[in-house]
Amino acid sequence: MKYYSTNKKAPIANLQEAVVKGLASDKGLFMPEKIKKLPQSFFDTIENLSFQEIAYTVADAFFGEDVEAATLKHIVYETLSFDTPAVKVKDNIYSLELFHGPTLAFKDVGARFMARLLGYFLKEGEEINVLVATSGDTGSAVANGFLGVKGIRVFVLYPKGKVSPIQECQFTTLGQNITALEVDGTFDDCQALVKSAFMDPELNAKHKLTSANSINVARFLPQAFYYFYAYAQMKRMEPGREVVMCVPSGNFGNITAGLFGKYMGLPIKRFIASNNSNDIFFKYLQTGEYNPKPSVATLANAMDVGDPSNFVRVLDLYNNDLDALRADVSGARYSDEEIANTVEQCYKETGYLLDPHGACGYQALKESLQPSEVGVFLETAHPAKFLATVETIIGEKVIIPEKLQTFMKGKKQSIELTKDFNGFKTYLMSI
Ligand SMILES: *Cc1c(COP(=O)(O)O)cnc(C)c1O
Repeated sequence: MKYYSTNKKAPIANLQEAVVKGLASDKGLFMPEKIKKLPQSFFDTIENLSFQEIAYTVADAFFGEDVEAATLKHIVYETLSFDTPAVKVKDNIYSLELFHGPTLAFKDVGARFMARLLGYFLKEGEEINVLVATSGDTGSAVANGFLGVKGIRVFVLYPKGKVSPIQECQFTTLGQNITALEVDGTFDDCQALVKSAFMDPELNAKHKLTSANSINVARFLPQAFYYFYAYAQMKRMEPGREVVMCVPSGNFGNITAGLFGKYMGLPIKRFIASNNSNDIFFKYLQTGEYNPKPSVATLANAMDVGDPSNFVRVLDLYNNDLDALRADVSGARYSDEEIANTVEQCYKETGYLLDPHGACGYQALKESLQPSEVGVFLETAHPAKFLATVETIIGEKVIIPEKLQTFMKGKKQSIELTKDFNGFKTYLMSI
């Protein structure tokens, strides 16, 4: 498969180049040259297949030309070492629980897949260094996804004192091939250090450097897997109903993968992109004007994005046709107060505890579902990851899952750095 850049000014890349580079040289995002339709026979019997079987069929459509079948199957099966069940919350609303992976968030799927695919592309004895700046969630998913993968070293840069204790322990206690770099600065400082490292000739001469950014095709495309599996589960549990998928969205990678699925023939009737107060996409659907602006902090902080990077992929997929996009996707938007009310109401009414991101998804379905439809929202993280917020809202203690507790028992190891590039460079040169 060939990959072109959404800016159309970079050379066409093969899968290996697209995965190692992440971003095209013209700063555009890579898109596959064709998106294969899957045969009707697949959808006719999809409810009889396992998650891994479904995912492998989807993975084969994306990557089958470039990765031999047995290896690809192995990568898919290893990536999906956990389930993503659709759990009924009430009436015709289901939660697609994407938090059963190692770091209890959906980013585990993409990070685990990318780590394994990158490992596959390394030559025997070759070593690559992944630099990732994080404001919390990405670092843990990437660190855990790449943990123990041969030939790959991961450096997680995070702002000292600015990530939650639970998030911090998910990437500082791992050891092995993961190093946490605690930067005396902000998230933006961390990101600037990573960018400077990629542009530094001396560093690049010494080390092979790459990023594990969420715009990477190897992180982004595997997210389509669970949309197909969600449909299969609905076909089993709610036969004959039209399926609506609702996605709490920030950078729009997750929902874009779902839209790819629809393009491949997945019978999802429509999508809802649910935003918090960072409502750039919501407004775009209303007005046709895209006005990025600085993000504002909200309770659903992983969706605090003021200029969603995958927006260009959505436009590209729909050939800039706003009406076609509107036919498939509608928007929703919730303030912090509405998010808190939703978490509280849903918990009181059904006993199901939403996280602040999933709450945006649940509420949008509640407000828009028709009787002929069944709705599935993506529960993108476990509520215990946002412990203080959720406990304050419901006024009760939340049980922390064992997996999270295990992280919290580990010993924190980090290397302290200032936000000065020279210190970071000296450190990287010394390893
Ligand atoms: C990253 C993240 C999102 C947003 O996903 P995008 O693909 O950036 O739209 C939503 N919820 C949680 C918990 C996340 O970590």
